[in-house]
Amino acid sequence: MVKKMDTSFTWTLMDWYRANHRALPWRKDKAPYHVWVSEIMLQQTRVEAVREYYKRFMDALPTISDLAAAEEETLLKLWQGLGYYNRIRNMHKAAQIVEQELGGVFPCGYAEIKALPGIGEYTAGAIASICFDVPVAAVDGNVLRVMSRLKNDSTDIQNAKFKKQIGAELTALYPQEHCGDFTQGLIELGALICGPAGQPKCEICPVAAYCQGREQGTAAALPVKAKKKARKKVEMTVFILHTAENAAEGQVKRTAVCKRDATGLLAGLYQFPNVDKKMQASEAIAQAESWGCRPKDLLRRAEYCHVFTHVEWHMTGYYILVETMPHAFQWATDAQLAQEIPMPTAFGYFLQ
Ligand code: SF4
Repeated sequence: MVKKMDTSFTWTLMDWYRANHRALPWRKDKAPYHVWVSEIMLQQTRVEAVREYYKRFMDALPTISDLAAAEEETLLKLWQGLGYYNRIRNMHKAAQIVEQELGGVFPCGYAEIKALPGIGEYTAGAIASICFDVPVAAVDGNVLRVMSRLKNDSTDIQNAKFKKQIGAELTALYPQEHCGDFTQGLIELGALICGPAGQPKCEICPVAAYCQGREQGTAAALPVKAKKKARKKVEMTVFILHTAENAAEGQVKRTAVCKRDATGLLAGLYQFPNVDKKMQASEAIAQAESWGCRPKDLLRRAEYCHVFTHVEWHMTGYYILVETMPHAFQWATDAQLAQEIPMPTAFGYFLQ
């Protein structure tokens, strides 16, 4: 007989969380700035990958006022590799609102937190419950997976009504105090026990007694998630145009880069010159000439596919040694490329 999901479920999960949770850098305290930055970074990125980004970010910008005052290019460089660059832009705007309109104090109510740019229901719920003990659920894909198994519910977890219903059911289970432990208990259960890939670890699950999916033998087949539309495929040719490195003659290697448009995918970041077409080597040389470069040698060719949420870039890169540096591009040194110029992973691959 499966137990009813009431407050005994809440306490069972919280007791397990307190004894078993991972020691993560952003769990050292309940400062909203720390929870906020980590939650935004963790969206679509693994915990292990986030650790290093989080440390670098906090070393560079230890307070919300440092974030508010930072230059956009500094932020994009700190975010380089995490993708979804609008997230850091929105955090920048939100930090400025906190500094300029809220007296430097992060809001403590769910609605006020959610009103900040880039903070949706999940992140607002996480910050409100973890930092301010507000009894409100934080429902993301992981929590929906766990809940659809616990309830043995085969509704598509992308269904907005289902998400709302789960949020309401969980909110009713929140304790009067220690709301953060319940939120984090659900997150931790989804990360360590009731994970997305393979079989859920029902044999060691602290809330197995409440799980209808386990009892019915359906847990591994849940959750149900409707298939997404196929991604669009785009063929591209990328030009890594650079000058010779010849320290003996006092020359410094420089590579052509240019800034992307201020709107759209990877807005405002830097890229190598490129065209939306797959080119053969001879065409690539002719293209470089048309930009005013004087190609001296075609050094190498490399292929790379970068997958975004809705589009795939199939890129052919040509490394071309050039003799002239036309003004159409900026010509960056290796040090500038490494330390100053924000270059998304899609192009950063060609720097390796
Ligand atoms: S019993 Fe299994 S399916 Fe149910 S919540 Fe625990 S790990 Fe997930």
